[in-house]
Amino acid sequence: MTREDIMQIIEDENIQYFRLQFVDIFGFMKNVAIPKSQIEKALDGKMMFDGSSIDGFVRINESDMYLKPDYDTFTILPWRNKEGVSAARIICDVHKSNGAPFEGCPRVNLKRVLAEAKELGYTMNVGTEAEFFLFEKDQNGVATTITNDVAGYFSLDPEDTANDCRREIIETLEKMGFEIEASHHEVAEGQHEINFKYADALTAADNTVTFKWVVKSIASKYGLHATFMPKPIFGVNGSGMHTNQSLFNLDGTNAFYDESDPLQLSKIAYAYIAGALKNARAFAAVTNPLVNSYKRLVPGYEAPVYCAWSASNRSALIRIPAARGLSTRTEIRCPDPSCNPYLALAMMLNCGLDGVKNDLTPPPSVNKDIFEMTSSQMMEEGIMVMPSSLKEAIEELKSNPISKATLGNHIFNKYIEAKEKEWDEYRIAVTDWELKTYLGIY
Ligand code: ADP
Ligand code: MG
Ligand code: MG
Ligand code: MG
Ligand code: MG
Repeated sequence: MTREDIMQIIEDENIQYFRLQFVDIFGFMKNVAIPKSQIEKALDGKMMFDGSSIDGFVRINESDMYLKPDYDTFTILPWRNKEGVSAARIICDVHKSNGAPFEGCPRVNLKRVLAEAKELGYTMNVGTEAEFFLFEKDQNGVATTITNDVAGYFSLDPEDTANDCRREIIETLEKMGFEIEASHHEVAEGQHEINFKYADALTAADNTVTFKWVVKSIASKYGLHATFMPKPIFGVNGSGMHTNQSLFNLDGTNAFYDESDPLQLSKIAYAYIAGALKNARAFAAVTNPLVNSYKRLVPGYEAPVYCAWSASNRSALIRIPAARGLSTRTEIRCPDPSCNPYLALAMMLNCGLDGVKNDLTPPPSVNKDIFEMTSSQMMEEGIMVMPSSLKEAIEELKSNPISKATLGNHIFNKYIEAKEKEWDEYRIAVTDWELKTYLGIY
């Protein structure tokens, strides 16, 4: 997409509203809305905003920042089209007032990490599977954890709002250029998954934040609340974001594929698996960033708990899906959709590449159900357990040298500071569980 292409579409589609988007370190999408008269200035990367208003960005005295648009991310927002007047968005990199890329911008940071991987001869391809729940809102418009499926039992009206909503989400994504591969109800009531085609890591991260935004926007049109919270209901499957990833060679062939191997996996694939397993405890704080994330990583709900890999077993942290050729890939199953995909992909890539650079060999694959193994069997096979809390994950992130090198000083420090604060707030909260368990008997 060129500047001219974009100006042409703006004329043809009567685009009057334009949003410049970027992502903060927690993965929240931020918007600067501008009128049509400012579009050319924006496309030339001359729009400024106040970075000190964004969590984890900068101090007041260095707050003037530029938004540099990535033309390839230009897209019309189909649900904002009213009476022939349209809106569009473009995703931007954040640059400092001296013009240099800003280290605290997760997208700028991912580009740096991807450029380093390219030096080694690899590009990363990624397909995310972000699950979500559609919940009812109460009379005051506040989100509940009541699912539309359940609400349906009580209503006389047989309409399936969730189904209509999901169909409109898919139609909207398709209009925005997503290639939808499948969509289905998940295990839990009210839980959904919509799969779209994999892409290079930067595009995949852009697509993932866009996907979440579209899902939430369309759901709210139907009066529903879409949530990517990892474990909204105790005792029910949580929402994961399995992250399918592969390395491609610069000639476009899949570096994980090797016909001659019994599993048709290359040495690079095995080394990547080894690196990911070795460092999984360190990337958890980024792929599973919330207090609530660790309530999903428990036995019994198809979420991984142990650092093992398997060609078949869905209880393992890393599964190797059956497809080969260009689709040869690892599926890392711990991430959840509350993560910042720009940071999560950077961390998983560098953890896997740690294996490639150091020629690591993974432990044997585990083909039995890990949840049936005793802890001494697991010790014997060298299987580590994922962190059981955000606190434990933060400590692991801090102590692994890959973290700082991957996130850069700015993001590393701000991220840890914020996550420690979040943990502390949770630590001193008095929860429902405590009241239920202790109040009556003490
Ligand atoms: P599952 O069987 O785990 O539910 P899905 O069909 O939901 O799998 O998702 C698989 C994802 O993997 C899709 O997004 C697909 O485009 C992606 N994918 C396919 N080939 C590759 C590849 N070579 N690298 C990365 N992702 C890939
Ligand atoms: Mg899936
Ligand atoms: Mg599936
Ligand atoms: Mg799923
Ligand atoms: Mg999957």
